[in-house]
This record gives sequence, structure tokens and C-alpha cells, in this order.
Amino acid sequence: MKNNINPATAIKTLEQFGEFGGVNPSITDSATFTFLSEEEMIKTFHGDSEGCFLYSRHWNPSNRYLSEALAAMEGTELAWVTSSGMAAITTTLLQLCNTGDHIITSIITYGGTYAFLANYLKKFNIEITFINISDIDSIKRAIRPNTKVLYTETMTNPLLQISNIPELSKITKANDITLVVDNTFAPMIFSPYQLGADIVVYSMTKFINGQNDCVAGAICASEEFINAISNVNDGTAMLLGPVLDPLRSSSILKNLGTLHIRMQKHSENAMYLAKKFTKIGLKHIYPGLPDHPQHELMKTMMNKSFGFGGMIAIDLETAERAAPFMELMQEKGVGYHAVSLGYFKTLFSNSGKSTSSEVPVELQKENGLSPGLIRFSVGLDYNIKRSYKLIKQCLTELKYI
Ligand SMILES: *Cc1c(COP(=O)(O)O)cnc(C)c1O
Repeated sequence: MKNNINPATAIKTLEQFGEFGGVNPSITDSATFTFLSEEEMIKTFHGDSEGCFLYSRHWNPSNRYLSEALAAMEGTELAWVTSSGMAAITTTLLQLCNTGDHIITSIITYGGTYAFLANYLKKFNIEITFINISDIDSIKRAIRPNTKVLYTETMTNPLLQISNIPELSKITKANDITLVVDNTFAPMIFSPYQLGADIVVYSMTKFINGQNDCVAGAICASEEFINAISNVNDGTAMLLGPVLDPLRSSSILKNLGTLHIRMQKHSENAMYLAKKFTKIGLKHIYPGLPDHPQHELMKTMMNKSFGFGGMIAIDLETAERAAPFMELMQEKGVGYHAVSLGYFKTLFSNSGKSTSSEVPVELQKENGLSPGLIRFSVGLDYNIKRSYKLIKQCLTELKYI
């Protein structure tokens, strides 16, 4: 079921009231739920009852509200919220794959995802082929009879490549493969399910929550898939138990209500900096500028009102040049030298040394990840001109420009 509703409008038109008419849904502060009849409880265990809550690892009302809002945003039938982004990714992949199956994945992904695929899944004898997600022929060549999943990020971490979701979807649909897409870098900007993905995963730790006060994740998919992961007998989510705490669900739901405005401002500020970086000849990657190799592709895929996102990567060539620059930026108040993204303050880190350090150095090099690459998550700065001036001062002081 595809819809054409703008993701922000889809969330805004939901009516989710609290028990006593509160404008926010009531918070579930219970692990277990009572049943009036034994018969109803038995039916619930068999998955045959509608609307009954059984136990909070399975479902609870607060998680249900947040899941419904996320499903509305993506246009999927349902969603399930997890205790971290990694929990969303690992639950999805472990549900889809059995021993002996095969996954094709973009080589450029979040470091934890890379490590899970490259190192952890060996335990289950699940085979992985790493490909360049922009090289469609290499994907077609990698398909085998036991290929179950094609995995990618809409906007890859940290090189900000844009995956051609409609094209990938054609390939997966023709070969009975599930297309799983991590949209953490670009919520609202992209609606991967609408573009042909089967399952959309998120680290809500980043833009969706936006406050850096917790880790959380989400799986947006068909009702059939969500029911399968939460099945009491063999569901990966039910049995491994990576459920989100309902108190957190309710706080994330409130932050979701401002996501569209935050995305617009992140994008506006990042675009300002990217244009300035171009002007002073600082090597950088930003998909919002025409010199980005997938700029035109992004324009055909995006929901236009949210801009090109808040992520920029700059390249200072070596880690030795990147280190003092990041330290000086923090000292001058540009933002924080920290991993993660989607915060209201600007965050920056050297990807090769931090969030992509799980990727072996030779592979980093081979795939264009420069050792001097600094990933910026541009914040909601009120005065971005001032922030740029501070960045420029740092570059000048270190004699980089
Ligand atoms: C942070 C991140 C993850 C992991 O999420 P956690 O909430 O830290 O578990 C996965 N994918 C991407 C793209 C991320 O940035």
C-alpha cells in the first residue's frame, strides 16, 4: 500500500489522545496487563486477539503510539520500536535470514552494521557480499539462489552516497529479495518504502529524536513482518527482547512532532556551510550541490520541502591534519567533537578513526574514505554565519587555507 501523503502531514493528522483527553497519549508504566477472561489470554498467546496487550516486551500502548506515528511517516502498515538502531538492524536481518543464506550489502554503511555483517553473522554461516551501491551491475552479478537481502543506507555513512532505491527495488522484486534500507541520515527527506524498499530501519538516536538523550531504533514494515518479529513462538524481537522502554517511546513521540522543522533547519544550515566551503576551495561532500555525483538522482527521490539534509563531510587528507582542526573547532565553540548526529548542536568526528573504524583501513582507502575525512552533523544554529566565521578562523589559524 503506497500513499502520496507528505511525511510531516501524515504525522500531523494523526489523533492520539491520552486517557483523560490529554493532548499527549498516556504513558504506559506497566510491564504486564490484566485479562478479564482466561479464554482471552489464551487467544492472545496464539496471536488470535485484537487490541489486547499481553506483556511489554511484546507490545505496549506507548510503543504502539510511536510505532503508528512512524508507520504514518513512512507510509508502511506498521512499525516496531527498538532499544537502539543496531537492535532494529540486527532484529530485521536475523528474522529474514537463516543459516546458509546470503546478503548483499553496500560496503559503505554505519560501522556497527559493517561489523555485524562482516564479523558477527559468520556465527550463523550467513554469507555476505560487499558491493559499491552505485554500481548496479555489480549487484546483479552478486545475486545467488540463496540471496535473501539487499541492504543499504539511503544516504550512506559517511560518504553521503545516495542509493538509487527505485532501481534497487526493481532488481530485488525481480529476484525475490528483500530490500532493507537504513534511512537514519535522512528521515522525511526520503520515504524509502514509497520508493520501493520493503523494510525501513532507523536509529532514532539521531535526527528522529534529535536530543541526544537516549538510544533507540525502529523497524517500519508490513503488518505481516511486524507480526512475524513479535510472534511469541519464533519472532526475533519477541525472543531476543530488544524492546524500547515505553517512557522513552513517549518522549520520542513528542520530539517526532517537531522533526519536519528540525530537518528543514539542519538542511538550511548545512547548505549554507557547503556553499561557503565551495567558495574557499575546501574539499567536501554535500549531496545538495550540483558537483555531488548523485545530486540529480537525489532530486528525483526526495520529498522536496525538507532540503538535502544536515550532513557534510570535509576532507583534510590526513588524520594528523584533521585532529587539531576538530580540537580547535570545539575550543572556539563551533560544536562538539563527538560521534553521532542529528543533535541541535553541531557534532564532528573523524569517520575513519571513529564510527567507521570497524572497516579495515585498506577497505576504507579502496572505497574513497579519506583518513582526513571529518563528518559534520550541522546543528540548528540560529546564526550559521557566525558558525562559519569560527570554522574559517580555525582553518586560517592552522594555515589550511
Ligand atoms: C547510529 C547509527 C546506527 C546505529 O544506531 P544506534 O542507535 O547507535 O544503535 C545505525 N545506522 C546508522 C546510519 C547510524 O548512524
